[in-house]
Amino acid sequence: MTDGNYERIVERISKISGLGKEEIERKIEAKRAKLSGLISKEGAAQVIASELGISFENEKLKINELLPGMRKVNTVGKVINLFPVRTFTTKKGEESKVVNLWVADETSNVKVVLWDTNHIGLIETGKIAVGTTIEISNGSMRDSEIHLGSFSNLKISEENLGEVKTEKLFRKKHINEFKIGESTSVRAFILQFFEPRFFSVCPECNKKVVQEGESFSCGAHGKVLPEKRSVSSIVIDDGTESIRAVLFHEALLKLGFSQLEDLEKFAQEKENFLGKEMLFTGNVKNNAFFNTPEFIVEDVKEAVPEEVIAELEKH
Ligand SMILES: [Zn+2]
Repeated sequence: MTDGNYERIVERISKISGLGKEEIERKIEAKRAKLSGLISKEGAAQVIASELGISFENEKLKINELLPGMRKVNTVGKVINLFPVRTFTTKKGEESKVVNLWVADETSNVKVVLWDTNHIGLIETGKIAVGTTIEISNGSMRDSEIHLGSFSNLKISEENLGEVKTEKLFRKKHINEFKIGESTSVRAFILQFFEPRFFSVCPECNKKVVQEGESFSCGAHGKVLPEKRSVSSIVIDDGTESIRAVLFHEALLKLGFSQLEDLEKFAQEKENFLGKEMLFTGNVKNNAFFNTPEFIVEDVKEAVPEEVIAELEKH
């Protein structure tokens, strides 16, 4: 979830409740403090909304506004990927079907799971195919997927979405299911955070440069004024297994490390992350040196603990 997403939620709460944005943000920060930072800004905003009696139900949301735990979700998107219909036998011994598809709008994309035979029929008859714009109403969020059951609605939409976000899709997996070569995302706790190492790159192509005396040279761009980059190893664990993960410069900056070269400062700042659960997205590679799998992180963000939201909603 991006900051823009958070701001939109705050704006929406402000509009409906009549409270000023500053007051809402204060409430959100107070809620986060109460939960010792266990909840993301977006998650806390959602809790405040429900405390104020505001629901996002029946509102049409953009895909990047969907949050774990939301019920009665409405959205419109274009089908960008469609998986074969699977048949399975329920506990009662009845034959049932399920189908997964990916739907995108201009903000993001999301996995949609259909359980209702009428909805699945629209796929089987080809009425809904890759490229079709669909309208979903009354879906519910399970983790970061929209699930549609018999109380949900699915229909073809006339809306013209223009260009939609189809960037690389990451599937959620547990660490003990990781396979080398896969792109995946996982919620995991940070167990260890090692000091960063530094290297120099070409400002043109971001590739490593070779030092020649006082100057640096890039294979493609010759003599260049290099830029410094950092890389850190961490160990993450999701309860199934742990794995070494590699965080590059951008990910470290995104986490909020301000002075990577000041190792004392780094040691202080890293304390905020030890034991913290976060959502990691990246690629599983083989570390040639250790001959073990490692996780190259492309993106890392706050994980909204669904249990916390569910627990708070009960009160
Ligand atoms: Zn270069």
